[in-house]
Amino acid sequence: VIEIKNLHKSFGNLEVLKGVDITARRGDVVSLIGSSGSGKSTLLRCCNLLEDSQEGEILFKGEPVRWSGERHNRRPADPKQVMRIRTNLSMVFQQFNLWSHMTILQNVMEAPVTVLGRDPKEVEDSARKYLDKVGIGDKCDVYPAQLSGGQQQRAAIARGLCMEPEALLFDEPTSALDPELEQEVIKVIKDLAAEGRTMIIVTHDMKMAADISSHVVFLHHGLIEEEGSPKDIFTSPESERLRGFLSATK
Ligand code: ATP
Ligand code: MG
Repeated sequence: VIEIKNLHKSFGNLEVLKGVDITARRGDVVSLIGSSGSGKSTLLRCCNLLEDSQEGEILFKGEPVRWSGERHNRRPADPKQVMRIRTNLSMVFQQFNLWSHMTILQNVMEAPVTVLGRDPKEVEDSARKYLDKVGIGDKCDVYPAQLSGGQQQRAAIARGLCMEPEALLFDEPTSALDPELEQEVIKVIKDLAAEGRTMIIVTHDMKMAADISSHVVFLHHGLIEEEGSPKDIFTSPESERLRGFLSATK
């Protein structure tokens, strides 16, 4: 679904991604781990073109992103392509980012109706279905402030699902939550993994990463230091840096 080759990304003089390759095939759950500042969020944001990048290829379902402008100063050439990619890769953020003036149902319905132009009645049915699925079907008519953090994050996941995306991108979806609320969100993510959803998940939760990933990528200073199956990464890490990182997060 998503393939990234040799991606380079700088903020001014700071090179944050220094040639990263990452692939998520249909049904893959790819976890991105690494210390703070290693470039995990930036890589995730590059996947759905929320960030520009200076070099490298990004393919969505085999279709390369087309660029215009000169090398190192490029931008996507086709706004329609950007829109298609972005609406097919739903992003779930650490800080849920729900609209506070809309009810939960309205939050979930908003983008499918206004961005995709889908029929509001049909969208409402699927919004209710997804809210049920994440366990907050009874919260349709309340406002975000009336929900716990775990419930708000589950609403944000329902909102992502309601776009019927090809893949979901999660950026530390549980790190703003108390441990007991974290578990409800982890359960929803596990269910999605078991269903065969394609996902890329930036997480500090090594237990979840070990449980649900098909592939784990350890990023260090903008480069992939080591990657492999959860078994390889968590039970027989090769790199000294990865071993250090894992023992620090225990
Ligand atoms: P964390 O675990 O703390 O979320 P991360 O691995 O997600 O870290 P990124 O947010 O991708 O790290 O940031 C990588 C580097 O890029 C950091 O040095 C950060 O300061 C820098 N950076 C990120 N966003 C910007 C920005 N908009 N402008 C300038 N520098 C940025
Ligand atoms: Mg981050």
